[in-house]
Amino acid sequence: MNLARTKVSSETVSLQPDTSTDKSADTSASIATKKPAVSNLDIEQTTAEKIDEANRQLIESAQQLIQKPSITPDDAGCTPWLIQQLEPLGFHCQQLDVNGVTNLIASIGTGNKTMAFLGHTDVVPAGDLKHWQHPPFAATVEDNFLYGRGAADMKTAIACMLNATKQFITNGGQFNRGKFYWLITSDEEGEAEYGTKAMIEHLKQKGVSLDVSLVGEPTARVTAGDTIKIGRRGALSGCIKLAGKPGHVAYPDQIRNPINPMAKIIQALNNIEWDSGSADFPGSSLQITHINSGEFSDNVSPSYCEINFNIRYSHRWNEQQLKQKITALVQPEGSEFELQWQRPCPPYWNKQSVNPGSALTLLEQAIFQTTGRYPSLSTSGGTSDGRFAASLGGEVYEIGACNATIHQVNEKVSVDDLITLRNIYQTILMQYFNC
Ligand SMILES: [Zn+2]
Repeated sequence: MNLARTKVSSETVSLQPDTSTDKSADTSASIATKKPAVSNLDIEQTTAEKIDEANRQLIESAQQLIQKPSITPDDAGCTPWLIQQLEPLGFHCQQLDVNGVTNLIASIGTGNKTMAFLGHTDVVPAGDLKHWQHPPFAATVEDNFLYGRGAADMKTAIACMLNATKQFITNGGQFNRGKFYWLITSDEEGEAEYGTKAMIEHLKQKGVSLDVSLVGEPTARVTAGDTIKIGRRGALSGCIKLAGKPGHVAYPDQIRNPINPMAKIIQALNNIEWDSGSADFPGSSLQITHINSGEFSDNVSPSYCEINFNIRYSHRWNEQQLKQKITALVQPEGSEFELQWQRPCPPYWNKQSVNPGSALTLLEQAIFQTTGRYPSLSTSGGTSDGRFAASLGGEVYEIGACNATIHQVNEKVSVDDLITLRNIYQTILMQYFNC
């Protein structure tokens, strides 16, 4: 990033003397002979001023969102603020409060095709404040970086979506060839039960489908637009508990130690041969995340042993198949077991993305026009709210800021990336709604 910027600025410096001399000579000659009411220089200045003003508003919007300490599921005023921004642009806004979660469904336009911007206003806790270079909710800009909790995940993406929408409308863009939705929740980082999932259910009841959904999750590895997600693996957590017969370890014939059969279960779980994935999707895997056998005493066999595990799975599996497989592995180790399932998250994958006319082509072209590069396509990382949007049957893609500092202290995003991401979103709007 720094290297690229240095290169551009050094080129600009080296070209400046010649170019500026030529330009001023041309301009003065033009004024002397034609005397236009508005000179080319004036037009260039006006355009430059407009771009500067748009960029200033973009950074200010990002700062205003970061300054609201919206730790899951507290919206901290983000949604009312967004409504204040979107209603004057012509959006119909509906705040959907569900079990303490604040959701926003905003829409504008008419027509058969539908596109949505999806995002979340909630952030994870700031962690240890003494490790932050700047207070996490101050939204400080220093050395061309904007710092703060949510700077990358994902308040800046919401600011980019907002600024892109404003710029699209200001430049004469209209939503008469399709309907444009905003779906924003304050519960993505938590259980996600009453957030995007609830909004999608609400839309389903109203008979609304979304042809294309763009989620602003931080997908970039180095700079905005370098990577987009075209799907995500699913996740499923579980807990296995085996009961034992506790007693003095010196009398093994009088006890039943549950750690022994649990050791066999752990081995069986680790021996599962998972799929190795495909070119588009990483393979499936299981990790044991916790082992617990209660209070410890070196001469007492425990009364129980339990383990927690988490499975990340590709689209080759579904939740039911996984549950059947694990249950079949546990059963031989005795009937006195409990098996509980937690936090099921289905995978999603855009089958349509392989079609030439898919929205992925449009997205790739918008990124190429903005950055001069085509993005890498990825399905790596954790789960996202994209899975809920995918349940409507349309295409779902994720594109956002750089994810190098998400959920960390000193979370940050470069101002250059902010502008690039806004430009990508704006280009997508122009390409989707103007044709
Ligand atoms: Zn996020």
